[in-house]
Amino acid sequence: MSTYCIVTDERRCISCKACEVHCKVKNAMPVGIKLGEHFTEGPVPGPNGAPLYRTLYMPCFHCEQPECVDVCPTGAMTKREADGIVHVVADDCIGCGACLEACPWHIPQWNEDGDKAVKCDLCMDRIDAGLKPACVTGCTTHALALVGQDDPRYEEQRKRAPQRVLAER
Ligand code: SF4
Ligand code: SF4
Repeated sequence: MSTYCIVTDERRCISCKACEVHCKVKNAMPVGIKLGEHFTEGPVPGPNGAPLYRTLYMPCFHCEQPECVDVCPTGAMTKREADGIVHVVADDCIGCGACLEACPWHIPQWNEDGDKAVKCDLCMDRIDAGLKPACVTGCTTHALALVGQDDPRYEEQRKRAPQRVLAER
């Protein structure tokens, strides 16, 4: 069962990309790898015809039935029982790349430094310490939020975000 989802409030987001920066710094990722990616689309016609930009910060969806976990031959890609966070156990990753191919949204990335798959784990170490993910904490305008299944934005984001990401990739 997935418990968490990161949602973007488009009315607040100013596309500064601080979310990407805070994610990269926290996870010490090299140039080229984005565990969470920020998309800006537009200008597009708004509800009243005035132009506006659409924005979306997209980390892993932590799917209910993750295809990346299904294809992993060693169990390195795993879903945490307690809260559904999908993460890589680095010591068990043999670098086969199966998860990169299996994810419909190309979320897992290839880290040449160690020849292993890496992906968003919602900063599970921070969550376990009672903190929010680095992208949420670092968001300049408080546009990002970590929400649970009881929040109406949870289902909305999980339904809408995949289509938007696929359209822009
Ligand atoms: S840090 Fe916040 S405001 Fe800046 S681009 Fe990311 S989501 Fe938007
Ligand atoms: S990496 Fe892709 S398939 Fe795996 S949980 Fe995340 S979004 Fe789902």
